[in-house]
Amino acid sequence: MIVEQIWTGNAYRNFNYLIVCPETGEALAIDPLDHAKCLATAGARGWHITQVLNTHEHGDHTGGNQAVIAATGAKLLAHHNAGGRIPGVDRGLAAGDVVRVGKTVELEVMDTPGHTMCHVCLRSHTDSPALFCGDTLFNAGAGNCHNGGHPDELYRTFADQLAGLPDGTRVYPGHDYISNNLGFTLDREPDNARAKRLLDEVLDQDPAHAMVTTLALEKEINTFFRLHSPTVIARLRDAFDDLPENPDARTVFVKLRELRNKW
Ligand SMILES: [Zn+2]
Ligand SMILES: [Zn+2]
Repeated sequence: MIVEQIWTGNAYRNFNYLIVCPETGEALAIDPLDHAKCLATAGARGWHITQVLNTHEHGDHTGGNQAVIAATGAKLLAHHNAGGRIPGVDRGLAAGDVVRVGKTVELEVMDTPGHTMCHVCLRSHTDSPALFCGDTLFNAGAGNCHNGGHPDELYRTFADQLAGLPDGTRVYPGHDYISNNLGFTLDREPDNARAKRLLDEVLDQDPAHAMVTTLALEKEINTFFRLHSPTVIARLRDAFDDLPENPDARTVFVKLRELRNKW
């Protein structure tokens, strides 16, 4: 499986993806907002985009659909309930469905509500597992919930689905927010030495050659996976004086999400 991460360079800092079968050159385009860049990359490498997949219905993920489809005849895939919000869906996706690309690539669909209620992530089952997570999981962060989502659902997605993926899973999110998110991690957990070191490493990185994290690293530096950290809980109790001494993980997650909205 070839993964081409495409940096759009736009104000929203979107990442687009081409996932390619190395044998046939067939490609799946994930959220190809920068359709010109996606088409040019595919053209230069001799790849054929046969499918477009939207992780969810927001315009910065669907905005390139029509141009890519007009140029390639690709089929459009999205969450099975997204049809009312995304025009022209050819295939509605449900949890456990398999998306095949060419002869060699198989991606499993995960139904991952929270950022919106029609959000899918894709995971590959290869020797180097990968997760394409749209606006659900970011490097060192989590998606917001104020455009059609819900923090309780996002917590369930993190706790029940993402946290259980293999440690070596490579994380491919829909936006480049890593530096800003690490700032929030350090605001919540100032003694997190790994996050501090990582921030030094990525602060001046070129997003066109962005560092790809793993789930194991995320569990060290992503506040939304660190719900039992004594520092996170102590700092949260400073911010919310009605929190009990040992708040449950869901409460910690939701309060962190609330703080992140204003941070
Ligand atoms: Zn979104
Ligand atoms: Zn987005």
